[in-house]
Amino acid sequence: MREVMLGFMGEFDLIETFFKRPARHATLGVGDDCALLAVSPGQHLAISSDMLVEGRHFLSTVNPRHLGHKALAVNLSDLAACGAKPKAFMLALSLPQVDPHWLSEFSQGLWALADAHDIDLIGGDTTRGPLNICITVLGEVPASQALLRSGAQVGDDIYVSGHLGDARLALEVFRGNMKVPAPVFESARWRMEQPTPRVALGMALRGIAHSAADISDGLLGDLGHILKASGVGAEIETQQVASTLACISSKEFHDQLDLASQLALTLSGGDDYELVFTAAPDQREAVAAASQTAQTRVTRIGYISAPHHLVLRDAKGHVMPHTFASFDHFKSA
Ligand code: ADP
Ligand code: MG
Repeated sequence: MREVMLGFMGEFDLIETFFKRPARHATLGVGDDCALLAVSPGQHLAISSDMLVEGRHFLSTVNPRHLGHKALAVNLSDLAACGAKPKAFMLALSLPQVDPHWLSEFSQGLWALADAHDIDLIGGDTTRGPLNICITVLGEVPASQALLRSGAQVGDDIYVSGHLGDARLALEVFRGNMKVPAPVFESARWRMEQPTPRVALGMALRGIAHSAADISDGLLGDLGHILKASGVGAEIETQQVASTLACISSKEFHDQLDLASQLALTLSGGDDYELVFTAAPDQREAVAAASQTAQTRVTRIGYISAPHHLVLRDAKGHVMPHTFASFDHFKSA
């Protein structure tokens, strides 16, 4: 949409300078009224949007290069959860002013991740307003092979990828609620600002996983979506979940964080951008092979049960009361 000048640089100069590159795969990229993208025969388009709002999803002090990475990463994480291969993305930006340094850094973070996944930025919208970044990603998945939330079956193993809870740990340190040694904070902060979307794992799990979701609002909430969509329940070994916290592998920090905190961070921390998925027990070797192909660790954390509720068990197998809520923008602080 045409707008009055955004400071000294016009809207179109800004797009031209920071967001226009020759399309590598798309038939038509930035510059016309629409972009054009060919869809491969036998594939479904997988489409998803995620919006990042200053003060809600990121701090105003965040490094813009990291923000560019994260804005695209959280979207790619949704494609990963469906087992889709990313093809292209669109960027809708609302900016309070034109800051060429900020835009240059932001776009470099964005391009680096786009290049890593070999995808085109094919269009978007740019307007003046509070800082707000909305990305839409487009991917492809062979028809009938998409990983859905609704496919979990009783008896399935439940797995999570990578590490949980470290991003939330960094947030709590930023908020002044926790103190951790500097190296622990640096690696946790990296997890918060530079999440790795598990695209390769999602694709490797096609035909193996019965269901999947990505973990953005905390494991229990996102697993809860799978349970609801599939009409099943789950038994969770909480010690396995706590073991995915990367920061406790630091000797210096290991004894400082009690189990209750480890559980709060990993079960309901949020901002993890890992995958939670289920697969039949006879697929354990196939899951291990997918994990290897994708060079992404996976941890089995429990199994799918028939009753429609979620049971947490401690190391001795005793049922734990669960008070861990997932993040909700309209309910949580
Ligand atoms: P229209 O007026 O048809 O909506 P615009 O004038 O908003 O188009 O945008 C001109 C072109 O620039 C379009 O191809 C649009 O997709 C693209 N574009 C606008 N903003 C961005 C952005 N932030 N990143 C990438 N492409 C953009
Ligand atoms: Mg137009």
